[in-house]
Amino acid sequence: MLTKEEINNLIHKAQTVRKYAFAFKSGHGFGACVLTVDGNYYEGVNVEGVISSMGVCAEMAAVDHAATHGKYAHKALCVADKNITYPCGACLQYLTQFSQVNDMDFEIVATDMDGKYEIKKLSELLPKKYRSVTFDDKLKSFNL
Ligand SMILES: [Zn+2]
Repeated sequence: MLTKEEINNLIHKAQTVRKYAFAFKSGHGFGACVLTVDGNYYEGVNVEGVISSMGVCAEMAAVDHAATHGKYAHKALCVADKNITYPCGACLQYLTQFSQVNDMDFEIVATDMDGKYEIKKLSELLPKKYRSVTFDDKLKSFNL
């Protein structure tokens, strides 16, 4: 369960970085922020590519940003958009592999730019997720 302070921090950080989205094609920026189990925040924005398959979502960028700092176990992720928007299916599956690191069904905060938000569990958004059996032990080895 997230505290009010954690929710406010996640929302503020995701909203703040949204303006840095590299969305030169769509003009549609997203900001994201992940909260690690040890209380650190890492932001990300969507980055579009000149070749359609080269882009990355803000949620993946935030999780990758945390990995760059050696943080793999997450408590929550927030995504900020003009309207309340949840992560895409690819991001939900990407987040699932990180949820396997510490077996935490982390919370997803979806906020608009006015601060209105909703919170859902990852398992609610992707109830039939693919959970790797083959790599489960290896994923757990990143629970530092
Ligand atoms: Zn996505």
